[in-house]
Amino acid sequence: MIKNYVTGFPRIGEQRELKKALEEFWSGKCELKELENVAKELRARHIKYQDEAKIDLISVNDFSFYDIMLDNMITFGAIPARFRELNASEQYFAMARGNKNAVAMEMTKWFNTNYHYIVPEVTNDVKFSLNPDKIINEYKEAKALTSKKLKINLVGPITFLALSKGGFTSNPLDRLDELVEKYTELLKEISKLDDELIVQIDEPIFVTDRAAGLVKFIVPTYEKLTSAASNIKIIFMTYFEHATEAVKEVVKTKIWGVGLDFVHASCQQEALEVLKNSDKVLFAGLIDGRNVWKANLDKKLEIASKIKSIIPLDRLVIGTSCSLLHVPFTLKYEEKLNPEIKNWLSFAVEKLAEVRVLANLVHEKELCEIGNEIYKSNKEAALTRATSKLINDEAVQKRVSNLTKFERDTPYEERIVIQRKELDYGILPTTTIGSFPQTTELRQVRNAYKKGLISKEAYEKDIKTYIDECVAFQEEVGLDVLVHGEPERNDMVEYFGEQLNGYAFSQNGWVQSYGSRCVKPPLLFGDVSRPKPMTVEWITYAQSKTQKIMKGMLTGPITIMNWSFVRDDKPRGEIAKELALAIYDEIDDLQNAGIKIIQVDEAAFKEGYPLRKENISAYEKFAVDCFKLSVSAAKASTQIHTHMCYSEFNDIIKTIEAMDADVISIETARSGNELLKIFKEVGYKQEVGPGVYDIHSPRIPSVEEIVKQINDLLLVLPKEQLWINPDCGLKTRKWEEVKPSLKNMVEAVKIVRG
Ligand code: GLN
Ligand code: ZN
Repeated sequence: MIKNYVTGFPRIGEQRELKKALEEFWSGKCELKELENVAKELRARHIKYQDEAKIDLISVNDFSFYDIMLDNMITFGAIPARFRELNASEQYFAMARGNKNAVAMEMTKWFNTNYHYIVPEVTNDVKFSLNPDKIINEYKEAKALTSKKLKINLVGPITFLALSKGGFTSNPLDRLDELVEKYTELLKEISKLDDELIVQIDEPIFVTDRAAGLVKFIVPTYEKLTSAASNIKIIFMTYFEHATEAVKEVVKTKIWGVGLDFVHASCQQEALEVLKNSDKVLFAGLIDGRNVWKANLDKKLEIASKIKSIIPLDRLVIGTSCSLLHVPFTLKYEEKLNPEIKNWLSFAVEKLAEVRVLANLVHEKELCEIGNEIYKSNKEAALTRATSKLINDEAVQKRVSNLTKFERDTPYEERIVIQRKELDYGILPTTTIGSFPQTTELRQVRNAYKKGLISKEAYEKDIKTYIDECVAFQEEVGLDVLVHGEPERNDMVEYFGEQLNGYAFSQNGWVQSYGSRCVKPPLLFGDVSRPKPMTVEWITYAQSKTQKIMKGMLTGPITIMNWSFVRDDKPRGEIAKELALAIYDEIDDLQNAGIKIIQVDEAAFKEGYPLRKENISAYEKFAVDCFKLSVSAAKASTQIHTHMCYSEFNDIIKTIEAMDADVISIETARSGNELLKIFKEVGYKQEVGPGVYDIHSPRIPSVEEIVKQINDLLLVLPKEQLWINPDCGLKTRKWEEVKPSLKNMVEAVKIVRG
């Protein structure tokens, strides 16, 4: 009997082998054949890990060279016209990365994760067709490697189309029948592969608020899919939230199983009741596929026993809450982590054992010796975490529990009068978002210092030289509010994490973000505090080099939290307060050191939004409170800026206003003034810096173009309310692009002011 499963396994490789092979292939250093060999080796190794861990149901087709949604486009022939003529091997990567004749397809975040998928373009001219080779080959390959049961993973047709872009006159979901026909053909085709086959069809769109509008498609779609072949068992898989509306529908069809996430949706009572009265098998995701801590198996057992009281054991399978794609690969290569902390962690490979042990416990099976060891070690980890000195800092806990004030002392209307007098900036002040180009030399300097290859003095000298050059350049072009350029930071979260108590860093904890790109989120394991100032030295150094105003640059508490792996033994609201207090202290030190403007970046504020309406107001409340707490150290005369890397504020404009920043800079360059209108509509009072040119492209905007952009902005907001700046930080650009672009920007402002 199948007692446990894994939703999907990471594919990048434990040493990022796939990343390396891909990048060599792209740069022409290796042949396609070599890339394919690496991929084959990885797939085999990943099956072996799961086989050895005694996973009963192992995924096929969870491997991808770039992205599963992209693979699905190939499987079903959803190829945009501009790539149609290319041969298969060119086509795939051209769709993902563009080529000299065609721009790449758009990419966006997969639900509320930091994984990015390629957005399908299902315009009227797309003709679906079936190309099942990848799936068939990978199934045969896996079958030869293991005697365990296999399941073929597919992105579901409703989710695929719901996440697609249409054209002006087409709605991708209108094409559902046609696409389902191809899925049916695919199922028929793969049904020949074995006597019995299990297919996991992922439909995570049903964990979002869009579910209500989409559930009507479930019965017609899944009736067809379940009739395709009598030897196929279909699992309707969801993750990241509850999917109650969908469960109610899908049980009416002949699907075999339903997958639910019991980590991110704690209360699934209603769905469980529905399943109880059906014959469906429940795939219960209990081991967290999105966080890095060892599971507290006793707590998991409590949840499981509630499930067991409703669903009989012969219809219950235990597994991960989602694909393990979202966690790092293995702890095997971590040599520098504090052993106490390492003992609290569990990455993808380690989670396999947890899945099996938990499933055995739920199924009341005697644990084997190794199983017992894992159970004991997890129990011990939970105990030591509760009392460890590394984690628990009484002073921090006291400070948080004594918090009463979250607001600045003076209301915005009064502050801004004081600030304008003090800072004396004129109409349409110009600034940038913080970073200047991160050159190869700069990276080398930081790396060399980190590795101990150069002295602190040598490192500081180089960083200061960079700052000097940034300041000189900004004065030369005539910007009003300057920045130091962030040369000392390789990442806007890691830089702060490294200086805070309560943070640890893995050496190899990479998680795929998109394509070959991986990120290594810091590990927030304990009570957070700031032992000493983090940015004051650099900022005051930069200020000492100019008479103009130097803007201090910090990352906000919500962004630091959203881009870290966060401890799961304390509510996120509490953790964010600790981070907010660390930023609070930094702001106070900066202003006491003479810094008059401080920017607190909240790039990840919006992506932290919950998937379900019912959780939004709680998130907004704690996110706004924590941001406000962090900046409440600022005196009335200290001007607080914030920056967000997007521009669609329609749904959250009131929340943005409630953050009470004096100035917000946002990304609008690609949308003209369209998205700014909401600021006017709601009577937004604070100052706004809508990006006047797009920094995501190497193009240099002309003076005329920026003049037009500024004039368009002035149609929406009054000149007294506007700042002029680029879209976002300039770290990914080259100096050859940045210099003329900023020159043109300042020139354009002069013309408009005139
Ligand atoms: N201050 C940061 C920078 O300029 C902001 C980056 C961001 O918002 N993504 O790089
Ligand atoms: Zn940005």
